[in-house]
Amino acid sequence: MQPVLKVRNLKTQFFTYSGVVQAVRGIDFDVYPAEAVGIVGESGCGKSVTGLSIMRLITYPPGKIVQGEINLDGIDILNTPEKEMQKIRGGKISMIFQDPMTSLNPALTIGYQMSEMLRLHTNLKNNEIKERVIELLNLVRIKSPEEVYKQYPHQLSGGMRQRVMIAMAISCEPKIIIADEPTTSVDVTIQAQILYLLHDLKERVNSSIILITHNLAVVAGLCSRILVMYAGLVIEEGSDFQIFENPKHPYTWGLLKSVPRIDQEEKEKLSTIAGLPPDLISPPKGCPFSLRCDYAMRICFEQLPPYFEPEKGHRVICWLLDKRAPAATRSKK
Ligand code: SF4
Repeated sequence: MQPVLKVRNLKTQFFTYSGVVQAVRGIDFDVYPAEAVGIVGESGCGKSVTGLSIMRLITYPPGKIVQGEINLDGIDILNTPEKEMQKIRGGKISMIFQDPMTSLNPALTIGYQMSEMLRLHTNLKNNEIKERVIELLNLVRIKSPEEVYKQYPHQLSGGMRQRVMIAMAISCEPKIIIADEPTTSVDVTIQAQILYLLHDLKERVNSSIILITHNLAVVAGLCSRILVMYAGLVIEEGSDFQIFENPKHPYTWGLLKSVPRIDQEEKEKLSTIAGLPPDLISPPKGCPFSLRCDYAMRICFEQLPPYFEPEKGHRVICWLLDKRAPAATRSKK
């Protein structure tokens, strides 16, 4: 099977008065049709910048994609004219943001905004458009779609607005939906409903999903592959099983320790990862996690580790995977 999205050596930087922030530092990954991929990491690790780079929504100045290749279903995204990109966004690829109010126009009704989207990206006739909008609102389980059609964004709850955003994102059956922290602005019950909805829609609409989140628990159960990002790099990539049951990177171990698990018999204390991520204006020459890592060795401060592949489909940037590393430290988690 061919991937629907190929990202190669993507580098995105921000040119600020303090210096050049290397937000994304050469990442590679593929997304296959109807696959859900999670991108996880702390704030500032480059996960949202990756999503915006794929959408080509990085604005210059100060941001710029300085190197790499993004291929979406045969389209060379980085060399596509902006006019063409406007059709691709919403048509072939769409994005759901953390705060729906930043994407919805407060002065226009939900029906009007959704109809415009369909008018722009589909060949539906005027009389078919309203029918499709109602169908989409039903699909995202909005109870009174006819009523919501006439309402303005401020008249809806946060959860309802997020459902409207999802309805807009799937309206043209895009190849890829990028959901950036889609559950952060809603409470825990609604979070579960939104995640269930995305899971359900993935099956029904047949789109691939890239779910961007700081919370590993959010990707569990929805994503079959997970990329853990740190300091602009993918520091570990693997299947959900590899990341949750056989993680290899100390940073992933730390993230997992901060997530409550119902399958753990003993009640382990949740912990946070001490310290802060490095300054991406002048990232360390060795491993970017070295200053926070309990297992750091001398080489970690001197050389960035290469990717090691402990199992098929499992990639890890960490010197502990090198055969020369002390064996006792290799399997700690
Ligand atoms: Fe820790 Fe070294 Fe691995 Fe970096 S390379 S995560 S410092 S052990």
